Amino acid sequence: MIEFKSVSLKKGGKEILKNVSLRAPDSSVTVIIGKNGSGKTTLLRSLYSSRDITGEVLVDGAPAKEMSGRELSRAVSFMPQTLPNPDIRVRELVRLGRTPFAGAFGALSEADAEAADRAIELTGLSSLADARIPTLSGGERQRAFFAMLLAKDSKTVLLDEPSSSLDAPSRAMLAEFVRALRADGRCVVLVMHDLSDAVALADTVYVMEEGKASLPMTPDEFCESDIPRRVFASSVYKVWTENGERYVFRPADL
Ligand code: ADP
Repeated sequence: MIEFKSVSLKKGGKEILKNVSLRAPDSSVTVIIGKNGSGKTTLLRSLYSSRDITGEVLVDGAPAKEMSGRELSRAVSFMPQTLPNPDIRVRELVRLGRTPFAGAFGALSEADAEAADRAIELTGLSSLADARIPTLSGGERQRAFFAMLLAKDSKTVLLDEPSSSLDAPSRAMLAEFVRALRADGRCVVLVMHDLSDAVALADTVYVMEEGKASLPMTPDEFCESDIPRRVFASSVYKVWTENGERYVFRPADL
C-alpha cells in the first residue's frame, strides 16, 4: 500500500503539488489521470524526495523518509515514463530486478535466477532472452522492463504512463500484466494518458489538476461527472464489446 498524505512540494519557487492526498491499497489498481503538467509524475517521484515535501508518504504504513534506499527499492517498483536503453541482454536486465534482494557483493542466488527466468517466460520474452536491449522495438523493450518488475516482486508497483509507446497487442498485454499484479495482491498505481484504457483498468480514479488531486472516484463516478468534459474536453460513450460494457472517450468537438 502507498499513501500520500497532504503532500505539498515547491520547485523553483513554484508550488507543484498542493496538499495532495491519495491512498492506493493492495489488491487494487489506482489510476491517476490529468493533463500534462498537472503534477502526476512529480507526485510519484515525491516518494523518493520525501525530505523536500511537506506532508508524508507512507509505504505499507511506514514513513518513506525513514526507509533506507534498499528497503524502499524492495518495497516499491517504479517504471519511469522514459525508459533507459542499457546495452545489456534481456536476461541481464530482468535479473537486475533481483538486485535489491542480492547477498553480499551483489551475488544472485539460484532462486533469484529462477524468478528472472519465470518472469521472462510469463511476459513472452523467452525467444528474446539473449537479445540486447537496444536492438528491441519500443514495445519489446517495455515488455522487458515489465519482466524486470515481475522478477522484482515488490508489493507496490508504480507505472508512469506505461502505455504511451505501445501498439494494441502490447497494450492488451499491459492490461493483462496489471490485472495479474492485482490478482496477486499487489498495489498498482498507474499514471495514464488514455482515458478509455484508464477507466477500463482502474478500481479507483484520481484526477490531478494544477497540482491538486480530486477525491477518489470509481470509474463510473468519473465517467458520470463533469470532469471528462471540463478537464479533458471529451465526451463519454458507453459501448458494448465482446468483453462487455466499456467507456470510450472522444474529443467533444469532433
Ligand atoms: P505531469 O506528470 O502531470 O505531466 P509533472 O509532474 O511532470 O506533470 O510537472 C508538473 C509541473 O511541475 C509542470 O508545470 C512542470 O513544468 C513543473 N516542474 C517539474 N519539474 C520542475 C522543476 N525541476 N523546476 C520547476 N518546475 C518543474
